Amino acid sequence: MSTASETATALITPDVESLQRASKVIDSIALPAEGIAVQDPATGETIAHVPDADVETALAAVGKADAAGATWARTTLRQRADLLHAWYDKLVAHSEDLAHLISREMGKPLSEARGEVKYGTDFVRWYAEEAVRPAGSFRESPDGGANILTRRSPVGLAVLITPWNFPLAMATRKIAPAIAAGCPAVIKPATLTPLTTYYAIQLAVEAGVPDELVQVITTSNSGAFSEAVLNDPRVRKVSFTGSTLVGRKLLQLASRNVLRSSMELGGNAPLIVFNDADLQRAIEGTFAAKLRNGGQSCIGANRIYVQDGVAEEFVAGLTERFSQVPVGSGLGQGTALGALIDDRAVAQMQSFTRNAVELGADLLTGGQAYDSQGHFFAPTVLDRVPEEADVAKSEIFGPIAAIQRFSSEAEAISRANATEFGLAGYVFTENLDRALNVADHLQTGIVGINQGVPSNAAAPFGGIKQSGLGREGSAEGLEEYQSIRFYNVARRATT
Ligand code: NAD
Repeated sequence: MSTASETATALITPDVESLQRASKVIDSIALPAEGIAVQDPATGETIAHVPDADVETALAAVGKADAAGATWARTTLRQRADLLHAWYDKLVAHSEDLAHLISREMGKPLSEARGEVKYGTDFVRWYAEEAVRPAGSFRESPDGGANILTRRSPVGLAVLITPWNFPLAMATRKIAPAIAAGCPAVIKPATLTPLTTYYAIQLAVEAGVPDELVQVITTSNSGAFSEAVLNDPRVRKVSFTGSTLVGRKLLQLASRNVLRSSMELGGNAPLIVFNDADLQRAIEGTFAAKLRNGGQSCIGANRIYVQDGVAEEFVAGLTERFSQVPVGSGLGQGTALGALIDDRAVAQMQSFTRNAVELGADLLTGGQAYDSQGHFFAPTVLDRVPEEADVAKSEIFGPIAAIQRFSSEAEAISRANATEFGLAGYVFTENLDRALNVADHLQTGIVGINQGVPSNAAAPFGGIKQSGLGREGSAEGLEEYQSIRFYNVARRATT
């Protein structure tokens, strides 16, 4: 058993050819020589600079997008669909480039970056298909005196703010429905991982998306950016993915001009394993729900509740899986856990581990940072985590599986719901009745039943409680960029 203060050293090093491929992609993006430095989290090395836009530049971008949007709103549905298909084809043709770029700037293993490219590009294909679906309706008033025609119009200029953990998918999940609905956009990616957005938009323009329709802004002063752009009367919509803390601030700013607001915020997902689960499936599902993206996922399993009857076997199985995970550069051969995004994340994992152990949790594997310029932390299993431990109360956002035990279904549900968040939850049981009952009672927007990766382009992704407002993906994701209007057409009395 390890202690929380130990450091480990053996890390997988990057593959030279993969590094070269990533550098080639970065060289192909139109970027300045100076500005905000972008670092490789696996090495700490600066790999590029992106513009550090001031407020005037951001407002000029709003102006350009607004001008392009006037024409775009008049395009036919088929024209929008065709352009999205063309962008999708471009992204697919460059999927290896995108995967190498994502891995280099964000740190995830290349295999997972490939998964993100598939997931992220699928939103573009989905909204290419969804763009032409009939959206209006024809209804009759209850008294028979009128016909009601409903139609959907583009909501208007959308400001899109994305986090660093899925640099492609978080961008395409917003940009594709905006384009499909007929909206121009200004997107502000996280400064930790801005390169993928610049590259994806460059490919969009190559595919024929009008040059100024989607503006990318990077800035070191995101507070000044949102103050200014959300107060600009040309902006009609804000869509944000990130922490609940920042989401609350943006909702306040959005209230001034009463902007349509979509908020994909933080999570604290419960994962419940019942005595009647298929244990192997539960271990694999938990492994995926916890370690995918290094645990840096808003739907990552945060509080793992295991029923007493299977707890020993489950914990032993999960610990064995965690202790065998190869850690290192995302561009290294065979890496399954890459670097965390920055040194603060590593310090946070150390603090979670230390605090839990001090309060009585058992550290079964991991618990160590690595002696490296990169930001690595070993896959960690903590068992018998007390409810008052920080790791049981906070969004972990890292590779720590924090296990608690329970005895009854009612207890599991009540403990799972004891949080202000409500994004995702997971249930493992072979009993259909129990699965559906627990899913019905979980206060989350998403429930994974016997599986750890529930999200895809067809699913209406989003949270309840303080995990957010609105949905992304699916037909509902398009509605976020549309205003419903109706015409009341008087009917003549018939004889
Ligand atoms: P964050 O809230 O710190 O930052 C997200 C984005 O907001 C970044 O682009 C950042 O630059 C920007 N930002 C920060 N302050 C701002 C301000 N005042 N005005 C405008 N923009 C501002 O979050 P993060 O650390 O990048 O991402 C992790 C968080 O995101 C976690 O809480 C995670 O759960 C959440 N997340 C949620 C989803 C979801 O779909 N619900 C998906 C991914 C991540």
